[in-house]
Amino acid sequence: MATVEWVLPFADSDITCKHGVVDKLHPNGHRGTDYGRGKARAGAPIGAVSHGRVAVSEWHKNLGNVVVMRHATGKFSYYCHLQEPGLPVGSYVAKAGDVIGKVGNTGAYSFGSHLHCGISDGPRGFISGAVHDIVKYVKEQQAANKKAAEKPAAAPVEVPEVVEAAAPVEVPEVVEGAVAAKAAPKKAPTKKA
Ligand SMILES: [Zn+2]
Repeated sequence: MATVEWVLPFADSDITCKHGVVDKLHPNGHRGTDYGRGKARAGAPIGAVSHGRVAVSEWHKNLGNVVVMRHATGKFSYYCHLQEPGLPVGSYVAKAGDVIGKVGNTGAYSFGSHLHCGISDGPRGFISGAVHDIVKYVKEQQAANKKAAEKPAAAPVEVPEVVEAAAPVEVPEVVEGAVAAKAAPKKAPTKKA
């Protein structure tokens, strides 16, 4: 099976607000990771975390220009506040790191150029539903790939021959008293003279 590559859009040192942080701006917990310094500057290209297809590309009043991708694992990754509309719906992104848009400051919930991104179970997870820490998720995928690469090549799995179990020989039940009744010898009809 081919390995599915994963890569984070920016470095951990570029993070300005981690996933799950509870503060004044996020009283219910931050539904994503913000990259807003280092290389994550206005106009910086955003690389997709893995290959896949663009499932959502739209304007959201709070999140600005949004792109959502669907990946091989069935999960989605979302990228918000993009400077301009990102790749259109249906676009195929061939590999991790390919550019899907640029860091921006669009939408009411943005107070300075930054990328707000995360992993979700559904295509609209950027608004509601289950979300996962993108940093943790991508690192888990990378660790799993590394582990798989270190394993010696597995011997081909042999398909065992199906040995059909011999059916147990059935001992016929002795049916007693089944002696066929002998037909009484027919008497030749006596001819009456
Ligand atoms: Zn955010």
